Amino acid sequence: MSLPNFVFHNGRVVPYSEVKFGVLTHALNYGTAVFGGLRAYWNEDEKQLFIFRPHDHFRRFLQSGKLLCMELQTSGDNLLKGLVELIRTEGHEEDLYIRPLAFYSDEIIGVRLHDLTAEVSIVVMPFGAYNKNEESMHVTVSSWRRVDDNSLPARGKIAGAYVNSAFVKTDAVRAGFDEAIVLNADGHISEGSAANFFMFRNGILSTPPITANVLEGITRRTVMRLVRDELKMEVQEREIDRTELYLADEAFYCGTGAQISAITAVDHRPIGTGRLGEVTARLRKMYFDVVRGKVAKYRDWCHPVYELNQKRTSKERTHVTVE
Ligand code: PMP
Repeated sequence: MSLPNFVFHNGRVVPYSEVKFGVLTHALNYGTAVFGGLRAYWNEDEKQLFIFRPHDHFRRFLQSGKLLCMELQTSGDNLLKGLVELIRTEGHEEDLYIRPLAFYSDEIIGVRLHDLTAEVSIVVMPFGAYNKNEESMHVTVSSWRRVDDNSLPARGKIAGAYVNSAFVKTDAVRAGFDEAIVLNADGHISEGSAANFFMFRNGILSTPPITANVLEGITRRTVMRLVRDELKMEVQEREIDRTELYLADEAFYCGTGAQISAITAVDHRPIGTGRLGEVTARLRKMYFDVVRGKVAKYRDWCHPVYELNQKRTSKERTHVTVE
């Protein structure tokens, strides 16, 4: 992966190489950072780049900061303005991944969340599929349990909590699987290492509730809306047992990175036919049309980066002030 040319840092777009941190940085030592993950999709017909649901992503990002007692002197609107400026400065005309980060930058020794200074940055980079095998993933039930709300809240994207996800992912991949299903402390399904989980069984789509130690996923909400309003099917938020998955007709992960990734086998047991199912396939098609701004009804989820007739590429290494 090549590094970005620019970064949006504390309100300004500056060269990426200009932002540097010392090894004592609090977030590096104690995991005291929060992050977001958005995508922007290139629409070739319109020659336009659309950021998907940025207001919802930045709202959750700021809420994650709130969980870590961060006083971020910014707003979702300012972050979006900065992001648009950053992408225009980079001049991208392709699908992107977007990574906002808020972190305690103090160079001190001392585990705490108070009396610290938070800084905010955003970087963007060209990005394709996160899961190699989006149409047919073979997964395992992880031996790790999901972090618990009373230990390290999963509903925020807290950097330190992603060590839990890293344990889950590495053990699954080393055991020869594509991904894992993580159970929560109660033994019910929570989600994947970095994606929410849905199961289709007996004509009903189900997903764990937001009290099951899951991230409050924006793609999860997108899927629930599309299933109810477009597929006219029932969606239940309820606890899901591990063996219900064994008997499911279809199952999939969803997330900004994962998009909609079909789970076709779990621990060598086929899910349904063992191939990409009809409901998941229909959802995938609909989802990709929606995120690229091709469905008028959901167009307000897609924020255009470029103005019409705007000269797009300005790759000079200049400082651009956006606030
Ligand atoms: N769960 C976890 C643990 C994640 O890291 C992600 C990715 N952000 C998701 C779920 C999906 O969330 P979203 O749809 O908002 O990207």
